[in-house]
Amino acid sequence: MRIVFLGAPGSGKGTQAQRLIERHGIPQISTGDLLRAHVKQGTALGLAAKAVMDAGKLVDDATILGMVRARLAEPDVAGGFILDGFPRTLAQADGLGELLRDIGQPLDGVVLFNIDSAELIKRISGRRTCQDCGRVFNVHTAPPPSPPPCGGQCEQPKLVQRSDDTEAAVAKRLAVYEEQTRPLVDYYRARGLLREIDADAELETVTARVEAALQH
Ligand code: AMP
Repeated sequence: MRIVFLGAPGSGKGTQAQRLIERHGIPQISTGDLLRAHVKQGTALGLAAKAVMDAGKLVDDATILGMVRARLAEPDVAGGFILDGFPRTLAQADGLGELLRDIGQPLDGVVLFNIDSAELIKRISGRRTCQDCGRVFNVHTAPPPSPPPCGGQCEQPKLVQRSDDTEAAVAKRLAVYEEQTRPLVDYYRARGLLREIDADAELETVTARVEAALQH
């Protein structure tokens, strides 16, 4: 199963991807997570990306495509993957198409997470990440179990808010989504790959909707 999760920041793509990778045994490839790993390790890529990310803007297409190309060459993606937060521009979508053609593994589908912007802002403001394991929780919609927050991997809850989840950065990220990422809806619809779900519901309900969308 090779799929893309498409939707605005805060629409639940990452949370649902985490649930599905456990069920389907395929990896989640989140370009946001890959970038945050670079920032944490202090690589040249990470240093350049941090300012762009904190401003809520998009990292350039060539950097992102290079990162994804390297990730797709790793052995664990042979059985499929969930792309989360990528592609985010038409150039990235074209680049992904070429990459997958090269390896003879076309996309099976694109799941679009539909949700209104007031709910998005509420969700983003409640988002917390476990500093140790990287799992994402939400004080409003997916509260962390107490303790441990990540199924026993972490000794103590170490939940932090992302540095780009500030009000100004969130407003910018939503505007960038509308301008640069929204056109991908028509792009994938025209290719017959789009599956839309209403993502404004309880965690379990949304998971069931994603699973149903993937059956088609
Ligand atoms: P995310 O965790 O997906 O919300 O991504 C966090 C930030 O990383 C975004 O606001 C962008 O600055 C950057 N980023 C992540 N994925 C991409 C992408 N596919 N293209 C460009 N920038 C990205």
